[in-house]
Amino acid sequence: MDLSTLFSANVLLLSIFAICFLAISLQTRPRTHWLSWAAANALLALALIGFAVSNWLPPLAAYLLPNTLLLLGFGFHWHAARLLAHMPSKISNVAAPAFVYALAASCAYLISNYALAYLAANVVFMVLSVATITIYASKPFRGLISSIGLILAFVFLAAEGTLRTVHGLVSGAPQGPGMIDDVIVDIHLMCALVFISLTGAFSLALSFELAANRNREDARRDPLTGAFNRREFQARLENLLKETPKDDFGLVHFDLDHFKQVNDRFGHVAGDEALVRVCSEVKAHLRQNDCFARLGGEEFAVLLPSISRENAYRVAERLRERIAGLRFEFAPREFNLTASAGVYHGNGSKLPSNELLKTVDQSLYQSKRTGRNRVSIVDTVSDAAPS
Ligand code: GH3
Ligand code: MG
Ligand code: MG
Repeated sequence: MDLSTLFSANVLLLSIFAICFLAISLQTRPRTHWLSWAAANALLALALIGFAVSNWLPPLAAYLLPNTLLLLGFGFHWHAARLLAHMPSKISNVAAPAFVYALAASCAYLISNYALAYLAANVVFMVLSVATITIYASKPFRGLISSIGLILAFVFLAAEGTLRTVHGLVSGAPQGPGMIDDVIVDIHLMCALVFISLTGAFSLALSFELAANRNREDARRDPLTGAFNRREFQARLENLLKETPKDDFGLVHFDLDHFKQVNDRFGHVAGDEALVRVCSEVKAHLRQNDCFARLGGEEFAVLLPSISRENAYRVAERLRERIAGLRFEFAPREFNLTASAGVYHGNGSKLPSNELLKTVDQSLYQSKRTGRNRVSIVDTVSDAAPS
């Protein structure tokens, strides 16, 4: 392929991705990383155009413009990665690498030494690439296949950048600004084509993966309290019941006492606040693989896999005590919110899940009938009556 075809292909691809990301940013929230990717692609397209016309630019502009645009573009790639990782990132972060280059290039211009500007651009570029690779390799992206594609894209570009720098230094560096002077510019442009395709495709794929994960998480959580919802609870219970060999587990079912009075006395907002507080208190006292769910209203359940009967009862008692000990800003100090609980312990082999829930529910109502703020445990499954 001749040089002008390669330049045009790169600019065309970058422009298509820039427009595509900009269009997506108009439809989605949060939109900042889409805007950053759009800006990155647009700036890289402008940088390439800058390189193509650098021989016709005034010398200072030729020193400064193409590489500054290029580094601003990579700055936006880095910024987008930070935003996706929920790391603090300001627009000044984006400008800093390009600013460092602009300073170095201005000095290079004053002493008419383009090799210095070339070296500065490549060093800043390598630092930005490594910084971006580090983010995509970090915890927020674990398990996301597309982040591997983005890592590969930046590793590929960093390797190509190293070769370009070494080649530039060994062969005396380009004598003037612009890739047009570089003897292996066609190889660089082919590499750029690969990089642009990889980052464009995998940026889209990564966003898709993140959105799918978010939707999956939303579908199994209660929006008010963040606890799992009834659907997720039911699925986990079914899984426990299907397990072979069967292991004993605990199921705690609890309901807040006289909760209607909380709403009537302090208002629904206070009621909501109380539900949120109860949930965060309960979550804080459970193990990583326990499943805590809001079954509806002020009714909750906890699945405790692989636990002894004594410990299942102890967990329920401790949760009851913790809830009773909560103090609320909206209520006087002497106000107590209490909960009544029913507990099942066993391996579930004798009952289908709906019967098991019915049994533990009877146990919960035993607690209600006998005065509330207490825990009752189902004796045995064949003896469904609570103790
Ligand atoms: P009991 O001790 O017998 O369980 O009495 P209770 O008042 O807790 O039971 P009841 O079923 O009569 O009332 C439940 C109340 O829970 C009624 C409803 O207003 C309240 N509630 C359910 N969901 C929510 C919610 O999301 N927010 C608020 N603020 N209140 C809720
Ligand atoms: Mg209640
Ligand atoms: Mg209830």
